[in-house]
Parts: sequence; structure tokens; C-alpha cells
Amino acid sequence: MLVNSYKKKQVLMGRIDCNKDLLGEINDICNKNNIRVGHISIVGAIKSINLGYYLQDEQRYIYIDDIEKSENYEIVSCTGNVSIKDSKPFAHLHLIASDKNGHCIGGHLMPGTTVFAAEFVIQEFEGENLIRQFDKETGLPLWVKN
Ligand code: ZN
Repeated sequence: MLVNSYKKKQVLMGRIDCNKDLLGEINDICNKNNIRVGHISIVGAIKSINLGYYLQDEQRYIYIDDIEKSENYEIVSCTGNVSIKDSKPFAHLHLIASDKNGHCIGGHLMPGTTVFAAEFVIQEFEGENLIRQFDKETGLPLWVKN
């Protein structure tokens, strides 16, 4: 188990432009503002979607293929965190999106999800960095104790 305690440092709130890559823009914002640890939430709409699913037995991500990737979706919820991976800020986000019938899909946000309109809140925390390193048991880059 790993438990750290943080204080809120600052909150960034803003909008991502149409046709930008959602994950790429969030990572850019974190890098440009040197946000090293924090919480992220996003609402809005996307023009296309690309989600991943981690195969635990095979220890690898696959793209979720059983969805219409070019359909327009509402971002019902997109939430996650920012920590350090490979010495730089890294956003880990999961997204739930609804289609025009209100049916939802969800998964691990991958590059290739294109913004229609997106509003974000990034809360930067003050305290120890959380650093991701390869974890043998899961095959994932998980937070380790410093
Ligand atoms: Zn994930």
C-alpha cells in the first residue's frame, strides 16, 4: 500500500480547442505548467474516441474495437491523475462517453480521442512526487515508494 498526503497548491481551469487530441493536450498543459502531481477532470464532447483495455492475463493494452470510433460522443466523465513517468508529468485518464441514445462506453483514454469541446479542471497538489515505475506483478507502470 502507498498513501501520501497532499495540500492543494493551485487549480487550473480552461478549455481545449476543437480538433485537438484530448490526452495530448492534457499532457501538454501539465508539462507547460510543470504540474507534477494532481487530479484532473474533464467534461465536454468528442468527435472521435479511442479507448484502451488492459488484458491482465497477457499484461498488455488493447484498443477497444467494439465501438464506433468516429461517432460523436458526450464526455460524461473523464477523470484521472497526473504523476511522474520517465522524469516528466504524465496524465492517466479514464473516460466514460455517451452516444446519442445515452448508451455509455468507457475505458482507459488513449491518444486519438479528438475534442469537439472540452472543459478541464486540473488541481495541482503540493507534496511528494508520485513516480511511476514498471511493476513486475501487473506489468504496469505503477507508483512506487520514494
Ligand atoms: Zn488506465
